[in-house]
Amino acid sequence: MRPHLAATATPADPSLPALPDIAFADIAGPALALLVLAAIVWLLGYATACALFPFGKCRRCNGEGRHPRRFALTKSSTWCRRCDTTGLRLRVGRRIWNHLHTLTADQRKRA
Ligand SMILES: [Zn+2]
Repeated sequence: MRPHLAATATPADPSLPALPDIAFADIAGPALALLVLAAIVWLLGYATACALFPFGKCRRCNGEGRHPRRFALTKSSTWCRRCDTTGLRLRVGRRIWNHLHTLTADQRKRA
């Protein structure tokens, strides 16, 4: 049998000071604003990183251009096809930026 606590309503002790009545919105409002501010700061930092360093290390070969064979009995490696042996990959943010840029360039051509 699981022990359980009895829910009893105890009257407030008049000798203790009353707790302030804090609503959820009083705490959630500033916390949400802080969260949005942190997201904006992170987004600006990531956009700057994508503008300055558009390429990152390939995750499969860790920037080496070669990676070990998956089902090999010996320690042999093969060229990385994911990055085409460059060891580089385009960052996701930069890929999104390039996609949006080509979309607006196409719209400008049509106009
Ligand atoms: Zn690679």
